[in-house]
Amino acid sequence: MSRPGIKIVGSINLDLVASADHLPTPGETVTGATFAQHAGGKGANMALAAQRLGAAVELIGRVGKDAFAEGALALLKAGGVNLDGVTEDESAPTGVALIGVDAKGENQIIVASGANGHLDAADVAGAGPCDAVLCQLEVPVPAVMEAAKIEARLFAVNLAPALPVPAELLERADLLIVNEVEAAYYGEALHRGGGLVALTLGGEGAVLYRAGEEVARMPAYAVPVIDTTGAGDTFCGALVVALAEGMEEGAALRFASAAAALAVTKPGAQPAIPMRKDVEAFLS
Ligand code: ATP
Repeated sequence: MSRPGIKIVGSINLDLVASADHLPTPGETVTGATFAQHAGGKGANMALAAQRLGAAVELIGRVGKDAFAEGALALLKAGGVNLDGVTEDESAPTGVALIGVDAKGENQIIVASGANGHLDAADVAGAGPCDAVLCQLEVPVPAVMEAAKIEARLFAVNLAPALPVPAELLERADLLIVNEVEAAYYGEALHRGGGLVALTLGGEGAVLYRAGEEVARMPAYAVPVIDTTGAGDTFCGALVVALAEGMEEGAALRFASAAAALAVTKPGAQPAIPMRKDVEAFLS
């Protein structure tokens, strides 16, 4: 089929990472660190995943009017994601995650959501019809509720991070995607709408339910694990692309698991997201 049109409503961040020998205690200054910056945010990661995996993606979100915005959007731009729905917020900075990593790989993370926290229903209202809509919870709930009104065959929500949402959002969604922490948080409410629920289990794989009944299960592919950052976001983008293309549920789960497995074999979140041809080669 032709490329499905997917709208993604979600967060756009820049991760600022300092790697040092040890992490500071309160009041301590640690010197001698090395620095790197990476584009991130669940909305941005999923947008890039869906685009690289074969969809025509439009991202709806907010960045600040600052130098960080360019870095946060660089790979999305290069990948051809439509950014017309990304607006520059005059009053808040681009969302950032300040990450400290020590020699053992332990980390400390402070997230300042900045402009993401200003995304509102008006930013989403008026979005035209498309094949599928995918949201997460790193932007305010009213924006997600508005996204539920976009005319589309598939309305999907990755319930991350777990936080209170109206029952009608859970019931309205055609597809909910959760990890084990989120599944425990929402419990049986996940299945009340009778739609699809995808539960990801990290290195244990993923399960797909419809109306609470298991319809497909995939163990994780055995791959060399380099960095699992962004595996969940790649899984979400891939699953929505596959279902929007009309792939059968078991095949869609397999496709998403393969895409996520490839993502863990490379460092970083966005740079590690595979292309469609790589997933097809992996599966063939
Ligand atoms: P994150 O927020 O860290 O991106 P998540 O908790 O949302 O992750 P996970 O359940 O950790 O998501 O992973 C999503 C999917 O990625 C899994 O269902 C699996 O298909 C794949 N995956 C994760 N870890 C591995 C691994 N070690 N080997 C192969 N596949 C993996």
